[in-house]
Amino acid sequence: MSASPANRLRDLPSVDLLIGNEGGAALIRTYGRSAALTAIRAALDSVREKLRAGVDAPTSPADVLDTAAAALHLEFRPTLRPVINATGIILHTNLGRSPLSESARDAITAAAANYSTLEYDLDSGGRGSRLIHAEQGLIAVTGAESGMAVNNAASALVLILSTFAQGREVIVSRGQLVEIGGGFRIPEVMTQSGAVLREVGTTNKTRISDYERAITDNTALLMRIHSSNFKLIGFTETPDIEAIAALGKTRGLITVDDLGSGALLDTARYGLEHEPTVSESLTAGADLVVFSGDKLLGAPQAGVIVGKKALIDQLKKHPLARAIRADKLCLAGLSATLDHYRRGEAVEKVPIWRMIAMPLSDIERIAQNWRDSAGVGTVIASQSAVGGGSLPGETLPTACWALDVPDATAFTAKLRAGDPPVIARIVDNRVLFDPRTVLPGQGDMLVERVRSLHNH
Ligand SMILES: *Cc1c(COP(=O)(O)O)cnc(C)c1O
Repeated sequence: MSASPANRLRDLPSVDLLIGNEGGAALIRTYGRSAALTAIRAALDSVREKLRAGVDAPTSPADVLDTAAAALHLEFRPTLRPVINATGIILHTNLGRSPLSESARDAITAAAANYSTLEYDLDSGGRGSRLIHAEQGLIAVTGAESGMAVNNAASALVLILSTFAQGREVIVSRGQLVEIGGGFRIPEVMTQSGAVLREVGTTNKTRISDYERAITDNTALLMRIHSSNFKLIGFTETPDIEAIAALGKTRGLITVDDLGSGALLDTARYGLEHEPTVSESLTAGADLVVFSGDKLLGAPQAGVIVGKKALIDQLKKHPLARAIRADKLCLAGLSATLDHYRRGEAVEKVPIWRMIAMPLSDIERIAQNWRDSAGVGTVIASQSAVGGGSLPGETLPTACWALDVPDATAFTAKLRAGDPPVIARIVDNRVLFDPRTVLPGQGDMLVERVRSLHNH
């Protein structure tokens, strides 16, 4: 004989009974008393409502606590979570751009866990400057006179223009006024400094004579923005940084080069188009070169500025420098990453360069191993992308583990719903997993997840 819902309402355990129970006590230990109590009450309320509505619901203490535990797990799960990137897009902006090297992570942990010499001079026992931490490394790897790091490249641009061009004109090619993703446009970021953008040329053609004609007494600087996330092909012309810097020099104007990605190594060595390097820009005569820490440098998010010491000294003193300063974790990770380049070991140690340089035969072997251990799918040739607003349209030949499933969209949604979420690509209705961007040690987990989903 089964009890009526009304009788079962009386069977519901009390809150006191539940928190006196070992399961309830465990929830309090894990999540704290207040959150655990709220969840337990909510779980009881939901059973009560169901029973009142005549719907059957389990009333045992274990069942109610399970409901509360599941709610607490979701509530406390961070929104910023690690994922497995099987897309083959190396600098995936939405997935956090570059993963960091082991030394960079160690340096960040050490800076996070301890007091540090962030702004302390051990020789004098007095105040030091946080800006010295990345400076030596930046000078060493780029050959610049000086360097500094701020929060990100967009803020670096605002700092430069606020310092040198507030209320004055900046000459820039119309073809370089780009949107950098997330709906943010470089020209709109730049004008936050109070500088006036003086656009010259046309979308497809800008000549050095256009810059020359636009110079007035109110011109403060000449600017080049590397077209990092799009490609202009066909009937096009744009003066190189050397010509712009030469013009700046004869007219007494500062030349700024926004490289975006800021490669320190030659991408052409890995079958990609040549991405302008920071040293090339400096050698060509740019006074200041700006680039991101977390694009082709493979460091934490930062905005790096290198170039003339006299100019960088001025930037350091601007009040905005304080507002956009890099934090100690960033400086620790950036310095450790720069050290890899100084030691000539960046291709082995910096994850994104290891991915760029990964031999196709290694990728094929991993894809084949995944296929064989799961016993489903095939290995197919495909393309990996560098991404992250660099090398637009450029790809690297890769091999993917490809899975035929009845509904590829539903399958990838299930992959994302797991823990850790797996992000894959769909091509021609097949789900592709690219070993290039799956970190060492994540492969087994990936295969296990795919196998269990595929068999259900
Ligand atoms: C990505 C990019 C930026 C912005 O860099 P953040 O470090 O993300 O602020 C600026 N300019 C160019 C050309 C870029 O490609």
